[in-house]
Amino acid sequence: MAHNVRLKVNSKFVNKYRGGFPLIFSDAITNIKDLKEEGTIVNLVDEKNTFIAKGYYGKQNKGYGWVLSKNEHETFDKKFFKNKITSALHRREHLFGEEDTNAFRVFNGEGDGVGGITIDYFDGFYLINWYSVGIYQFRQAILDALKDSVDYKGIYQKKRFDAKGQYVEDDDFVAGERGEFPLIVKENGVQFAVYLNEGAMVGIFLDQREVRKTIRDKYAKGTNMLNTFSYTGAFSVYAALGGAIKTTSVDLANRSKPKTIEQFSLNGIDYEAQDIIVEDVFHYFKYAGRKNLKFDLVVLDPPSFARSKKNVFSADKDYKNLLKEAIAITEDDGVIVASTNSSAFGMDKFKGFIQTAFQETGHKYTVLEEFSLPEDFRTIREYPHGKYLKVVFVKKLK
Ligand code: SAH
Repeated sequence: MAHNVRLKVNSKFVNKYRGGFPLIFSDAITNIKDLKEEGTIVNLVDEKNTFIAKGYYGKQNKGYGWVLSKNEHETFDKKFFKNKITSALHRREHLFGEEDTNAFRVFNGEGDGVGGITIDYFDGFYLINWYSVGIYQFRQAILDALKDSVDYKGIYQKKRFDAKGQYVEDDDFVAGERGEFPLIVKENGVQFAVYLNEGAMVGIFLDQREVRKTIRDKYAKGTNMLNTFSYTGAFSVYAALGGAIKTTSVDLANRSKPKTIEQFSLNGIDYEAQDIIVEDVFHYFKYAGRKNLKFDLVVLDPPSFARSKKNVFSADKDYKNLLKEAIAITEDDGVIVASTNSSAFGMDKFKGFIQTAFQETGHKYTVLEEFSLPEDFRTIREYPHGKYLKVVFVKKLK
């Protein structure tokens, strides 16, 4: 990069950045238009040109880049990244020692000091997610730092550069040996088939580890369970292992059926005794209503935003209605696991959706427990927004 760009922080936000806020966003910067080339090093300064912090320009849906250091003389080289990575690994040392789990996050973006990148661990394989063209400019330094810090079988990557953080390109293999896929990993003693070479979604969302365990250990026994937006059926597998009498998994994507069969089979569950339905969840709710089907345990884990042939679902606008549909087919004293990964709203607003949905359907409820991200998805106090996951277990009362 030619030279650093000086970004003037709007006086309203100076204290925020001095206090450690990591995200560079346009409202906070008076000369955001000076940013031209992603990967450019930026120095944040106040109105008197006093140095505040240093970072890089990288465009994501969230903002324009991340602060990486408060040291004006910092260079973002291999040594810098190695420090960050080794600290992150150190914090998770106990996870590497676990017998029952060998898939978890080892580096969580700004939570571990470098926004724009995450690294996940899958039984000896590392998967790097790059969230902007900007952070990708540091690829060599970061890769060298990772290779120096871990024993790895192989390293894979996903470039998620476009505005919505979607996946852009299919050259996933980076270093070491190529994996044989599916790679079978363990989580709480449950087996999962993972594909690091098939696009953005690898088969399991690691942030729900504790929620899955809770479902298996405390809620599944003896239930007729419905898993909506089920993807590879992870919640259904845990429910079946926890003693659910039957599980029903519903997802729109054709791939979800063979993938769910695969996960059941890996865990010795007879998939033919389960229902795996490829359908729009909103159709399924209507069908279930007509047939008077009721469930004791309903998992709602939709994407933040999705478009199907007939519906556009956006969590901040539509979650309440989704809940109402779910409430209608949940038994009295049944449990709804309401989950969202939307960063458009926080826990309070989410609980507001739950309250309104129950109010409008005329049912009482009680909140049983709540979850956010597990410890390996580290977040920092200065950026609570990074804590995107919200999961509430609610009991429907008469
Ligand atoms: N709950 C899953 C992850 C869900 S990912 C898990 O824990 O593993 C989101 C899933 O929602 C995708 O598999 C996608 O195919 C599905 N999806 C999106 N819109 C849908 C709709 N209207 N009906 C059913 N499935 C939908």
